[in-house]
Amino acid sequence: MTEPRRPADTHVHTRLCRHATGEPAEYVLRAGQEGLAALGFTDHVPAPDGYDPACRMGLAEFPEYLAILEGARRDAPLPILAGIEADYYPGALPFLTGWLREQPFDMVLGSVHYIADWAFDNPAEAAAWESVELPGAWRQYFGLVAALADTRLFDVMAHLDLPKLFGHRLPDPVMREIAAPALDRVAAAGMAVELNTAGLRRAAREIYPSPLLLAMARKRGIPILFGSDAHCPGDVGRDFDLAVALARDVGYTEYAVYSARRRRMVPLPSTSPEARHGLKAHGGEGETG
Ligand code: ZN
Ligand code: FE
Ligand code: FE
Ligand code: ZN
Repeated sequence: MTEPRRPADTHVHTRLCRHATGEPAEYVLRAGQEGLAALGFTDHVPAPDGYDPACRMGLAEFPEYLAILEGARRDAPLPILAGIEADYYPGALPFLTGWLREQPFDMVLGSVHYIADWAFDNPAEAAAWESVELPGAWRQYFGLVAALADTRLFDVMAHLDLPKLFGHRLPDPVMREIAAPALDRVAAAGMAVELNTAGLRRAAREIYPSPLLLAMARKRGIPILFGSDAHCPGDVGRDFDLAVALARDVGYTEYAVYSARRRRMVPLPSTSPEARHGLKAHGGEGETG
């Protein structure tokens, strides 16, 4: 095993979620080629209450998920971690509270994909963005993030500013005011925040979270880690040099790796000059990416 060039990717999916392609072995292969320190599978959590059934495995398929992880570990050239991306929504707790604890997970990502009944990140429901009151929608979203943190059920906040995906941003001072209470509670919960490069592949053309929010997280001592949110093998570890450059830019020197729900900190790999340049190209007002 050669020295990893890039941090662990602890957010990738499998075909069990019904909207990802490729075999787990292909994700592992790609992770090895990209020189990642580890690969963590975190598919969408089952929801026996019928929440968003089109985008996740059924509870009966969960043993198959564990078998997939077992298979991925076999002959893997890098450590394979077992995780789950668990949605927080009002009503999620009766199932999640007991169930998450009983599973052999290395880490649990918490995410918010719905504001009330609105799947705000679903292209089919994106038109609603044109009629909502923007600060109000963001405020509701961060209210859910804060509630997620308060449950103490999750290790990591995934794609912290997901509502920007179609480009619906707030001015920095407004964003700072709306996000601060949620970040306070993420910090109080001892959670990490993920640098999720999937935002670069959406209209937002920006990593989740924004440099502003990442700097706020850093100020609160919130640890970070990295996720590609890959739904196909080619996206594993994608744009990680840029993400590491962003982390360093904000002042981070290490990142978190979870094993059996316990966190350890490891040094960030060094940043290439090309990545620092790329960060500049991506930053600022325009969509230059
Ligand atoms: Zn997905
Ligand atoms: Fe997600
Ligand atoms: Fe995901
Ligand atoms: Zn995700």
